[in-house]
Amino acid sequence: MKRETWKLRLMAHRYGRKIRKNAGGSTFASTSIGKRILGNSGANSTSEKDSENTPVATTTEKIIDQHLVQHVVAVKMFSRTFPTSNVWILHDGNEAALIDSGYGDAPSIDARREYFGKNWADTKFVRIAMTHHHFDHSSGGRQLRDMLRADTAIHPLDEALLHTPLGPAEGNEDLPDDKVITDRAEVWKKEAFETPIDVTMADGEQFKVGSLTVTAVHTPGHTAGHNCYYVEETGQLFTGDNILGVGTSAIGPPPSGNMGNYLDSLRRMQELQAKLFAPGHGPVVTATAAKVQELLDHREIRDRQIIDIVEKGYDTDQRIRRALYPEIQKGLRRAAHGQVRSHVARMVGQGIMEVDESEDGSIWTVRLTK
Ligand SMILES: [Zn+2]
Repeated sequence: MKRETWKLRLMAHRYGRKIRKNAGGSTFASTSIGKRILGNSGANSTSEKDSENTPVATTTEKIIDQHLVQHVVAVKMFSRTFPTSNVWILHDGNEAALIDSGYGDAPSIDARREYFGKNWADTKFVRIAMTHHHFDHSSGGRQLRDMLRADTAIHPLDEALLHTPLGPAEGNEDLPDDKVITDRAEVWKKEAFETPIDVTMADGEQFKVGSLTVTAVHTPGHTAGHNCYYVEETGQLFTGDNILGVGTSAIGPPPSGNMGNYLDSLRRMQELQAKLFAPGHGPVVTATAAKVQELLDHREIRDRQIIDIVEKGYDTDQRIRRALYPEIQKGLRRAAHGQVRSHVARMVGQGIMEVDESEDGSIWTVRLTK
């Protein structure tokens, strides 16, 4: 059987290629959310009842401080315990911007329309800045843009990925085996793909919200064009899916994700010394320095574990995955497999490991270089 040395192929990968994995459901939690976020402005409403067959659309609002509001329209997906994506409302005076746009299905958009109509009718929305192209952050963009008359923005690399159509099964890997949700995912994909982008924001580009200055910080890894957004005046950093309020982000293997870039991005986020992280999922993080260090340490420990496992004779990506995550639940196996590959890919880049990829790409045979 013809085998191709994958090391060379890795070098040849380019961002902007058609993505195969992790297009939407690419984050997973390693811990469960501790408590529900409670609304505190009377804005809670339930558009759909929670049941085994019906996704939930429960609106919760949390006021973080005088400039920041967390708005969540909960949709049941990923693992049951994983929090839905956040939409952040950054505001000053009578101007506001959204960071991320949540889901674009009808119940989610209806819930947002009701909330914004009731609470923000006199506010001028200047921008919807997306952290990355995955549909849990982008698929509400088209309809919120119309509703709020705000410009949409994303990094140029993720604009290309947003406007790359996904195949029928793509982006569904981490979704529960539930027809209502997989049908809804088709809507999310279509909406994400059809979201117009008015402006792209490369690293360092800025916009104003009242007197606040928001700066794009290009932090690739989770996706090629992942942006964090930093608010100088408040020290707040919107971390997207690079740092979550709960658990760890899934970093897919190239070309969709890149572990080496991710670790560089974490270090860059560390240098900003932000006072608060407003993440893509879960609650805000105030112990910011400790959080970044914990994530960097977590990845280093994983590298060591994988090296140890390969030394013990586990020689393929699937065997490594089973040895590393023996207990993992079914819906997260693919994400876990992606984690193994992205760690291995980085160690290939460092010259620590070599990989032979089977012709159909399904098996990586792994060995240490020395
Ligand atoms: Zn996400």
